Amino acid sequence: MVRVRNVLVSTIAAIALAGEARATGELVYPQDGRVRDIGYFGAPRVGRHTHQGLDIARALGTPVYAARGGRVTFSGRTDPYGYGTLVEIDHGSGYATWYGHMRTLLVVSGQTIAVGTQVGNVGVEGNARGTEPHCHFEVRRYGVPQLVPGAAYQSIARGSPIPRTYSGLTAIASAGATSGPLRAWLSQGGFVNVRSGPSTSSSIVGAIKTDRTCISHGTNAAGDWLAIDYKGHEAWVNRAVLTPLPARPVVRVKVAQTSFTNEKGSPVGIALSNQVYPVHGETPTRYEIDWGDFAYAYLAKASVWLGSSK
Ligand SMILES: [Zn+2]
Repeated sequence: MVRVRNVLVSTIAAIALAGEARATGELVYPQDGRVRDIGYFGAPRVGRHTHQGLDIARALGTPVYAARGGRVTFSGRTDPYGYGTLVEIDHGSGYATWYGHMRTLLVVSGQTIAVGTQVGNVGVEGNARGTEPHCHFEVRRYGVPQLVPGAAYQSIARGSPIPRTYSGLTAIASAGATSGPLRAWLSQGGFVNVRSGPSTSSSIVGAIKTDRTCISHGTNAAGDWLAIDYKGHEAWVNRAVLTPLPARPVVRVKVAQTSFTNEKGSPVGIALSNQVYPVHGETPTRYEIDWGDFAYAYLAKASVWLGSSK
């Protein structure tokens, strides 16, 4: 990999913060924490390249979330003296975000995820051993590290827009969604439009068939639009065209991906790790799941965590 030597100096993050106070929200900060004093972007390092990301410190095990929806292109171990462990998410337009030093990885390569999906937990893998636990967060475009604003000791709030324009990416339409409990809904009355924002003037990005379920994880401020995961991105549906499902449990697939089966136990598809599915019914050993065209696919109970749709 070509290492690009940065000529940025320690003040550049502060300058960027002052000059671009209005967040445009193409990317959001991935974690709650505090910028390490030596871990801001462009920090000089004796005898080495300057720091190419942002180190966000917090206790071991603190969740780390995707800064934008996309496709996971790497999740695993790397150089034991470098990142240690790494998740890479491809966001399109040449952009990728990297998350290093994590103790646990909760996504798998090839998985499509939405902004805010938990990708792992803060750890001390790689060259973070001996330091306070932190996530090393990078934004790259065509492999070249991009500025991630953040000054030493600055407090970082997970999900807040990164105050910099990453040209080529559109702003995340859902920025500002309130988070809420996972809840299952049934689409009725024909195709339900899925939109890029919480408004009928937002562009249509897809549709949900009648009698299909979707999972919401929040609403807009007025509560009349629901934020859902749709093909790896956060999208919106009007609450009026959905029927809330009774308080059925919601299951979340464990870290290792597993197979959906038919009634006879034969595999019919892959359930991706950390994905959420609503439950229709259950037997002592498996849940009946609404999944794609397999209205009666099953997941082994041992392969899921239970959530709550209340
Ligand atoms: Zn770092």
